[in-house]
Amino acid sequence: MDGFVPVSENLSMMGSHNIFGTNSQISENDTSSQHTAEVDGSSQINRCMAALEHSTIKVPYEVLNRKFRTAQKVLEREVSAVAACTSEMQAALSGSPMPRPQQLTQMIRGVMSQVSSLKRKAREAVAGEVECARAVRRRIEHLDQAGKGSAAARAAWESTRIDRLITDFLLREGCYRTAKKLVELRNIKSLTNLGLFENAYEVEQSLERRDVSKCLAWCHENKTKLKKLNSSLEFNIRIQEFIDMIKRNERMSAVWHARKYFSAQDCKQLPSIPQCMALLAFPADTKIPEYQVLLSDSRWQDLIQQFRDENLRLYHLSLQATFTVVVQAGLSALKTPQCYKSNKESFNPDCPVCVPTLNSLAKELPYAHCSQSRLVCFLSGETMNENNLPLMLPNGYVYGSNALEAQAAANNGEVFCPRSETKFQLSDAQKVFVM
Ligand SMILES: [Zn+2]
Repeated sequence: MDGFVPVSENLSMMGSHNIFGTNSQISENDTSSQHTAEVDGSSQINRCMAALEHSTIKVPYEVLNRKFRTAQKVLEREVSAVAACTSEMQAALSGSPMPRPQQLTQMIRGVMSQVSSLKRKAREAVAGEVECARAVRRRIEHLDQAGKGSAAARAAWESTRIDRLITDFLLREGCYRTAKKLVELRNIKSLTNLGLFENAYEVEQSLERRDVSKCLAWCHENKTKLKKLNSSLEFNIRIQEFIDMIKRNERMSAVWHARKYFSAQDCKQLPSIPQCMALLAFPADTKIPEYQVLLSDSRWQDLIQQFRDENLRLYHLSLQATFTVVVQAGLSALKTPQCYKSNKESFNPDCPVCVPTLNSLAKELPYAHCSQSRLVCFLSGETMNENNLPLMLPNGYVYGSNALEAQAAANNGEVFCPRSETKFQLSDAQKVFVM
């Protein structure tokens, strides 16, 4: 569908669309304009890639970055362990009395085991980083193929892209198993961020079960980054633990919990603490709306949503799925006032915006800027132009001459108007001139 390309690209594609007219069609003999169009096309694709494919490269890059930093820390630790061993041995050798041969052998064994541990960890770290770098390269190579090759290759690329975008959308919506099935069916695992959402799915599932341990472990694992992002997720989880204690009527435990976790919070979180603490004074089935909100089970869904958002922010991903962006861009590029006429007859079956489901989706979007209208024959769906002149029947309805002449030839000069359900002679139709 034409909708899966950004606005700029879509506008230029309208020349080939049945519904709208632009003067962007290129003469086959005009090689210079063809060349310009090719250059324009590739720069449009590049712009599209830069604007919409950010997450495709960003996620494996961030994973590589993380692996590199973790490996750096692990190797630093191993190197200092080796250095400690060797300096201990040196100190023993330079001191008096000299260590016994048995002691010396033990020390050498200790150094050797530290060195081999360093070597093993270095090998593992490099292998992990190489795998990540390969993932980045595979995606760059895939994106590089955009708009290249034969028409069939381009169509296959577009199809893979749509599958990637739908997978991303499903993962963001929490439909992990459906996304996984699509990925397996289309064999696109290396091009999607399934791994990133795999861990997230486990955390979400545990939150669904009212279990915060996995989410707290995740917060701890990403502590530094979450702090930089001013995340309140861990605080909200602690609040939830507090609320659950109140619900279970373990008020003393709740006080200890508050002392332990609420005192270290920064000032941004302070305003919500007093309201929370006031819960201690109310029963769990209180009818006061402010406290009912706190005690409500819907807080768990809010926590899941917050976790999803924080997980995306951690990898510098936008909160809106690329799929949503391209669908909106495509719809607004195709949307005309004609698609929203109360008269259903004006709907064009070939126009995506006229399809009822997409029609309601596009309701809030702006209209496309169409500098030139195109008349479409209601009977055949063909464009009405100098080769298919518009003809008006005596009842005022206009149809393309091709469709009317075909009808007349088959019915002894008689034509049928499906809108008024009346028959006329083709000879009664008049030419229409559009100024
Ligand atoms: Zn329409």
